[in-house]
Amino acid sequence: MSPDPDFVTLPESRLPVAARPDVLVVGGGSAGVSAAVAAARAGAETYLIERFSYTGGLATGGMIILLLTLDDGAGKQAVAGLCQEMVERMERRGGVWYPPREQWDDPDPALVEHCRRWGLVWGSAPHRVRYSVAFDPYAFIFAADEMLREAGVHVLYQTWACEPLLEDGRIAALVIQNKSGRQAIVPRVVIDTTGDGDVFAAAGEPYEAERVHPWLWFEMGGVRDVEKALEAGGLFFRTTGRDRALVPWGGEARVREKIDATDPAEVSAALVECRRMVEEEASRLRKDAPGFEDAYISLMADQLGITESRRLQGRHVMVRDDLNRRFDDTIARTGHWTKYDCVYNIPYGSLLTRGTANLLAAGRCISVDHRVNHATKEIPACMATGQAAGIAAALAAEGRDATAVDVATLQKRLRDAGAILE
Ligand SMILES: Cc1cc2nc3c(=O)[nH]c(=O)nc-3n(C[C@H](O)[C@H](O)[C@H](O)COP(=O)(O)OP(=O)(O)OC[C@H]3O[C@@H](n4cnc5c(N)ncnc54)[C@H](O)[C@@H]3O)c2cc1C
Repeated sequence: MSPDPDFVTLPESRLPVAARPDVLVVGGGSAGVSAAVAAARAGAETYLIERFSYTGGLATGGMIILLLTLDDGAGKQAVAGLCQEMVERMERRGGVWYPPREQWDDPDPALVEHCRRWGLVWGSAPHRVRYSVAFDPYAFIFAADEMLREAGVHVLYQTWACEPLLEDGRIAALVIQNKSGRQAIVPRVVIDTTGDGDVFAAAGEPYEAERVHPWLWFEMGGVRDVEKALEAGGLFFRTTGRDRALVPWGGEARVREKIDATDPAEVSAALVECRRMVEEEASRLRKDAPGFEDAYISLMADQLGITESRRLQGRHVMVRDDLNRRFDDTIARTGHWTKYDCVYNIPYGSLLTRGTANLLAAGRCISVDHRVNHATKEIPACMATGQAAGIAAALAAEGRDATAVDVATLQKRLRDAGAILE
C-alpha cells in the first residue's frame, strides 16, 4: 500500500499484446462505425473496440433515431458518403422514412407538417422540407454489422479503452480491459470516437468540458392511432413500424440538474432518476393522450442522451463565425438542423490533436466551440468526420503521423468514396 491513504500504487505490470493493427478506432458509435469502415476499405488493418454489445452509440442505444440533417437547408445534399450508404442499407431493411428528393426545400405547410410529425422539423418557422431521415435502431445495428463485416474490421465488444502509453508524442499502446483482463493494443494510429474524448483526455490533450441536462428518449408501442394522437398534440413523433410513437423525453424542461457525463456517480444517479420519470411520463400518456390507453414502453434508451461532454481543443477550433467559411483543408461538411441555407465546412485541423501525432478525433467530441457543436454533433456530421478520420488514419499508418497526411490526397480519396466536400 502507498503511504497516502487516498491512493493505491499498482505494481509495475506486463500486459499481453492483443493486436498490432494499423488503425485502432475507440468507440463504436455512428462516428466510430464510419471511421472503422473507411479505414478498412482504405486498406488498413483495423480494430474497433466498443464498451457495449452493439454499435451506434447514441444513434441506437440512446434512441436518437433521427438523422438531422443530410442537406444544407436549401435543397442541396451536404452529407453523403458512408452516411448516405447507411440510409440506403437501412432502407433495404424497410427501416427508414424520409421525404423524397423532389420535396426537399418545399415550403408547402402540409408537407412540412408531415415531416414535423416524424420529428424532422426543428427550430423556428418559416420551415421548408429538409433531407432528414427517421430510422429503426435495429436497422442501423444490422447495417453497421454488415458494413463492418464486409470491410473486414476486427470488432471487440464489451471492451473498454483505458489509458494510453505515450512515447515521443505518440500513443505507443492503448491499454484495454475486458473479460480477459487487461491487455494492450499496439496501433499505428488511433481514432478517438468515444463521444466523450476518453482517449485524448487520458493522453493529456487540452479539451473543454460541458455540463448538460440529460435526456432519455423512449418509444411506446401499442398506440391505437398514432396520426390521431398527433392531431391532438403532445411531444411525440411517428416512427418506423406501426402503432409506435417516439417520445423525445428529457432536457432542461424535465430534468433540473445538469450533469458531467464523464462522472459515473452523476450519470448513475441521473439514469435512475430519469427512468423513474420516464415511467411516470408513460403513465401520464396512457391517461391523457388519445390512443395511448393500452400503450406500453416498447423501447427505452439504455444510455442517457448527452449532447456534450468533452470537446477537443485541437489544431483548429471551429467557432460560430466559421459558418459558411471555406477552408483549404475541408474534409467534411454539414448543414444545421435548425437553420436554413448554411453549412459548416469542417477542416482537417478540427480532427487533429495538438500534441499526439498518431491520434485523431471524430464525432461529437471534435475540436469546435459550444455553438458549432450544435451542428457537428449531429449523426450525419459525426459519420462524415468519422469517414474522414478513417481514411486519414489509413493514409497516416505508415509514418504513424496524422499531421503529415497530404490533405489533397485525403480530399481526393474522400470524394472518390462519395463524400461531399463542396
Ligand atoms: C437528446 C439528444 C437529441 C439529439 N438529436 C439528434 C437528432 O435528432 N439527429 C441527429 O442527427 N443527432 C442528434 N443528436 C446528436 C447525436 O445523437 C450524437 O451527437 C451522435 O450520435 C454522437 O455520435 P458519436 O459516434 O460521436 O458518439 P456516441 O454515439 O456517443 O458513441 C460513442 C461510442 O463510444 C463508446 N465508448 C465510449 N467510451 C468508451 C471507452 N472508454 N471504451 C470503449 N468504448 C467507449 C460508447 O459506448 C459509444 O458506442 C442528439 C443528441 C442528444 C443527446
